[in-house]
Amino acid sequence: MNISILGSTGSIGTQALEVVDELKGIKDISVLAITGSSNITLLEQQARKYKPLVAVAADESGYTDLKARLADTSVKVLAGEEGLCRAAAIEGSDMLLSSIVGFAGLVPTMKAIEAGKDIALANKETLVTAGALFTDAIKEHGVRLLPVDSEHSAIFQSMQGGTRNEVRKILLTASGGPFFGKTKDELANVKKEQALKHPNWSMGAKITIDSATLMNKGLEVLEAKWLFDTEIDDIEVVVHRESIIHSMVEFCDRSIIAQMSLPSMKHPIQYAFTYPDRFPAKGQSVDFAALAKMTFYKPDEDTFRCLALAKKAGREGGIMPTVLNAANEVAVSKFLKDEISFLGIAEYVESVMSKYKNKSNPTLSDIIETDALVRKECM
Ligand code: NDP
Ligand code: MG
Repeated sequence: MNISILGSTGSIGTQALEVVDELKGIKDISVLAITGSSNITLLEQQARKYKPLVAVAADESGYTDLKARLADTSVKVLAGEEGLCRAAAIEGSDMLLSSIVGFAGLVPTMKAIEAGKDIALANKETLVTAGALFTDAIKEHGVRLLPVDSEHSAIFQSMQGGTRNEVRKILLTASGGPFFGKTKDELANVKKEQALKHPNWSMGAKITIDSATLMNKGLEVLEAKWLFDTEIDDIEVVVHRESIIHSMVEFCDRSIIAQMSLPSMKHPIQYAFTYPDRFPAKGQSVDFAALAKMTFYKPDEDTFRCLALAKKAGREGGIMPTVLNAANEVAVSKFLKDEISFLGIAEYVESVMSKYKNKSNPTLSDIIETDALVRKECM
């Protein structure tokens, strides 16, 4: 199989390359294109090791540096969104792993779909912001959409226990993040260093903050809505502190099928690469006796307002999820620069959402324009 990886220098991208290494000799995967943004040193190392046809410096300022570093190789160096689009749709590739963070992944991922590539999707923001267009394009071009987000991979695997018509509801698990059980007063002065410490997962900064605010779970509700063609209210979020059950599906006979494993993104990445087959994986098995217990709670949507806001945007539909996503990307970057408080993230997103009139059936241009407008107004 031949793949291209958007965001190969990130948390998902680097773990995907480890999966490629681990599958060698069992299922050989050639990496035809890789992309990075700020980490040109790692991108160069990856280019030397995996010998892709193309390496892309997404931030154009890294282009000259990358080109000079790879001058002695046959790797073609490209830059910017144009380069990302060419990498995503590169000839000969069977699958795109879409693992850039945020809205920046949307246009290149759409290009890959149009070029007939299967999509292994980590970049949930693209599905949140353009769910209808994205899923329509998947159908129109007859390609597969394989979830990489651990909960969605779990739902996808659990769904195989019945037919779509037999599904009663989706149980989407959440770890609760680093601030589980805290009150608003206790959260008033938390700093980014605390928010960046996730109890169970090591991930990029943006999704780690989203996990602390529960916006990540909100985005995942919308992601599940599009991936599994479900109503928002048929998706129940359950806090499960141990992150062993990655999500569950309840069928009409009230039987529940769950997918479990120790928390490692390599499981869902490997499953997306090898679906419908399963291959041996490195790592440990769950030791249930050592685990002893698993705990479950209702999420606190009054304190963690972002989850409620995301569901609201999902129920309203139209352009509102785009507004939510763009406002959240801006708010998270402001929080990471100490410009707003932790609780300020939800306040910020809510105030931006209240300023926008909804628009139904947005086109790709509407989505791109609205995303840009929200960012401009937030400056
Ligand atoms: P990281 O921040 O670790 O990596 C992001 C990748 O995208 C890097 O390769 C980065 O390049 C690149 N990048 C950053 N900004 C841009 C941009 N504007 N244009 C093009 N490329 C850019 O993020 P993660 O790997 O943690 O997350 C990636 C996606 O996967 C997100 O959508 C996240 O929600 C999703 N996801 C992640 C999980 C995880 O465990 N990490 C779990 C489930 C979903 P560079 O580093 O060189 O700057
Ligand atoms: Mg997830």
